[in-house]
Amino acid sequence: MRIVLMGAPGSGKATQAKQLERTLGIPRIATGSLLRAAAAAGTAPGQQARQALDAGHLVPDDVVLELIRERLREPDAAGGFVLEGFPRSVAQAQAFDTLLAELRTPLDRVIQIDMPEDELRPRLLGRRVCSDCGAVFHAESRPPRESGTCDVCGGELVRRRDDSQDAVERRLATYAEHAPGLLDYYAQRGLLYHVNGTRDSELVYDEIRALLS
Ligand SMILES: [Zn+2]
Repeated sequence: MRIVLMGAPGSGKATQAKQLERTLGIPRIATGSLLRAAAAAGTAPGQQARQALDAGHLVPDDVVLELIRERLREPDAAGGFVLEGFPRSVAQAQAFDTLLAELRTPLDRVIQIDMPEDELRPRLLGRRVCSDCGAVFHAESRPPRESGTCDVCGGELVRRRDDSQDAVERRLATYAEHAPGLLDYYAQRGLLYHVNGTRDSELVYDEIRALLS
């Protein structure tokens, strides 16, 4: 099962992709993580990725695509994958189609998690991430037991650089600019399915599972 999970920043893509990874036994490929790992490794594409991420811009297509190509060639992706956070533009979708054709692994489903913009801002701005283990908390909806400290490992909770007010506004604007064309692109190919992301994540997950069966 090869799935692309789409939705605005803050729509809950990561939560759903992790759940699919656990239950379907296929790897979650999150381009945000791929890019941050490349940025941390300090390679040339990694540095390009870092600059774009910090500014809330799209990372250059060739950089992202190369990282995805490498990831899809790893053995655990042979039986399928849940791709999250990519593609983010029609140009990326076209380049991704070319890559998938080359690998002879067409997509099965594109699932869009719908959520209105006024619900996205508070979700993104209140988000705190453990600097050690990566666990995600939220100032209001999922506060840690002790403020600023990870429940899982005791690490320090920080706001991701791309969750700052300025970066959030740019991410939402970038999303709004590219999403309609991207959704059209996959709708025309008969691959696109929508779920309502405003409900509890368990209900969203049930809806996604129903679309996959
Ligand atoms: Zn932690």
